[in-house]
Amino acid sequence: MKKNTIKFTVILAIVAMMAFSHTACKDNKVKDNSLLIEASIPYEKKEKIGDYWEYTCPTPNVHKGRNQVKAIVLHHTATESTLSSLKIMTGPKPAGKVSCHVVIAPDGTRYILAPPESITWHAGWSMLNGRNNCNRFTVGIEFQGNTIEQPLTEDQVRSAIDYCLPIMKKYDLKISDIVTHKQIREEYLRNHHAKKVPAKPDITDEEHKRFKEALKKRIK
Ligand SMILES: [Zn+2]
Repeated sequence: MKKNTIKFTVILAIVAMMAFSHTACKDNKVKDNSLLIEASIPYEKKEKIGDYWEYTCPTPNVHKGRNQVKAIVLHHTATESTLSSLKIMTGPKPAGKVSCHVVIAPDGTRYILAPPESITWHAGWSMLNGRNNCNRFTVGIEFQGNTIEQPLTEDQVRSAIDYCLPIMKKYDLKISDIVTHKQIREEYLRNHHAKKVPAKPDITDEEHKRFKEALKKRIK
């Protein structure tokens, strides 16, 4: 094929893909297409680490100070697409101060929003091992999707393990230090007579268990 023909074909494919994404909004595979995300979200670096692509797209939504990294908190986004999650978490001053350290798309692509040493806003009202405000000492992983409706993909589990292992090694974390949003929120509620903590369905206990079992196999 001539160079111009190739160029034309590529443009045609992108246009078709974008048109399709408008008409087929319910199709997560289309909406989570990493090329569409790549075209929409500014990023500093893109590299393939092991089996998965990793994009570095720093969020301004971090708190000052240094994260002490005592645990890793799992979440699911419950948003309609990876792109909408990234827009919420990297956008300027979100209303509810929302961010995390990494968003993991269904195909396993990782979007790194902040290094583990940064304090992001993923935990909200929270307590772990008797300590309040988990944002200050935990790393937040957001899995794209809603685990109440659908389990994590195999790629999400494997990619998250790839992400966790170096952090666990550096900060001497155990498998029991991988917790869920629900867990730290419930500990907070048990220990405070909090009346006004809005309910937020998050990653299920089943998926938490599944993740820890997969992690255990990789550590062996
Ligand atoms: Zn959460």
